[in-house]
Amino acid sequence: MSYEKIDVPEDGEKITLNEDTGELEVPDDPIIPIIYGDGVGSDVGPAAQQVLEAAAKATGREINWMRVYAGESARERYDENLPEETVEAIKEHRVAIKGPLTTPVGAGFRSLNVGLRKLLDLYANVRPTYHLDGVPSPVSEPEKMDMVTFRENTEDVYAGIEWEHGTDEVQQVKEFVEEDMGFDDVIHDGPVGIGVKPITEFGTKRLVRRAIDYALEHDRDSVTLVHKGNIMKFTEGQFRDWGYEVAEEEYGDEVITEDTLWEERDGEQPADAVVVNDRIADNMLQQLLTRTENYDVIATMNLNGDYLSDAAGAQIGGLGIAPGANFGDGRLLAEPVHGSAPKYEGQDKVNPTAMILSGRIMLEYLGWDDAADLVRDAVEETISSGKVTYDLERQLDDAEKLATSEYADAVVENVEKLS
Ligand code: NAP
Repeated sequence: MSYEKIDVPEDGEKITLNEDTGELEVPDDPIIPIIYGDGVGSDVGPAAQQVLEAAAKATGREINWMRVYAGESARERYDENLPEETVEAIKEHRVAIKGPLTTPVGAGFRSLNVGLRKLLDLYANVRPTYHLDGVPSPVSEPEKMDMVTFRENTEDVYAGIEWEHGTDEVQQVKEFVEEDMGFDDVIHDGPVGIGVKPITEFGTKRLVRRAIDYALEHDRDSVTLVHKGNIMKFTEGQFRDWGYEVAEEEYGDEVITEDTLWEERDGEQPADAVVVNDRIADNMLQQLLTRTENYDVIATMNLNGDYLSDAAGAQIGGLGIAPGANFGDGRLLAEPVHGSAPKYEGQDKVNPTAMILSGRIMLEYLGWDDAADLVRDAVEETISSGKVTYDLERQLDDAEKLATSEYADAVVENVEKLS
């Protein structure tokens, strides 16, 4: 495909999907689209590029970056927020990475992040939360956290089905709910905004399957379904029930539910089996702190997943550190958990680790585990030697405060030293 405003690199090959095996075919010199994003994206984007390039080179490969645009940079070039050719370029090249994109609160355009995830059908937002040596934390034993959250990415209250107060539409929906559905004494009088929360069997089951597959492939002990099904019985409660259906019907002896474990095996977990259990979301948020080591893989809906993974991220060093990626079938878009932090835009100040470690997830997805491990080791080495950005420096005694670009140079040096 030719693009109007995207420069395609002269070298490099496309990643393709083998339709028979469903596996990616990854050349040693892939073309990888990158969106720097808004705000601090223009600092953390190039920093991550530099580190990932160094890790690829150190393991005998080459990344050929292709800059694509969304948000502010797209408005400048295309006069729109999310150009079609950006979406097409990511579709065509299958694996990409992005920085944060700003979403206005209240009025204005809808989230571009949510739009991208929907257009590319990236249905699982995956956020690994693990502690790196030397990273300061508000808890006394941050190393107990080693958890991966699978957050459903395409439905729930993020589906965008909502109506603004004062419109004819909201009035129609209100009348339907009150008169046809019989909820006549629930909505207060006066202006009201109304939203709809769809949770489908399809969306739930593919997400839970992905979480269980991950747990089996990575020797994890458990998958926890997190929901608020005691209150939202037909949406969050049904998520739990469909989740258990996947566990009970699709995996044979490889997966066992917590109830069966206690009823039939007195709590003794068979070797190589994954236990599926569930927790109510508010309880889960406190268990993250009090019984951190009990949790391995989490499968949950969109909003719970957002809250839970940010809270978990705080325990291992905060938003400057927390990585993420969005997975579809044969497709990945890596992105840090943090936003565009507009007050730090262009200051060469913020921590690029979250974006670098998001790139690490991307390297793993390419099957470049050696390069991915090198990135993690180099980041850990840099931080434990006391070279950090402002967010960690303010929490440490005797650390050296580096700019974003200086920190990226230090990580690259360690990539080269450790390879
Ligand atoms: P934010 O941009 O994540 O920033 C909140 C605070 O987190 C910052 O003020 C800073 O705290 C800390 N922080 C964030 N990134 C950091 C980094 N790389 N290094 C060090 N510290 C970092 O959250 P927000 O202010 O709520 O959101 C701003 C915009 O980003 C909004 O438009 C929002 O919609 C958007 N957003 C986008 C994404 C995405 O693209 N996926 C995700 C979340 C939010 P201190 O000032 O205390 O140091």
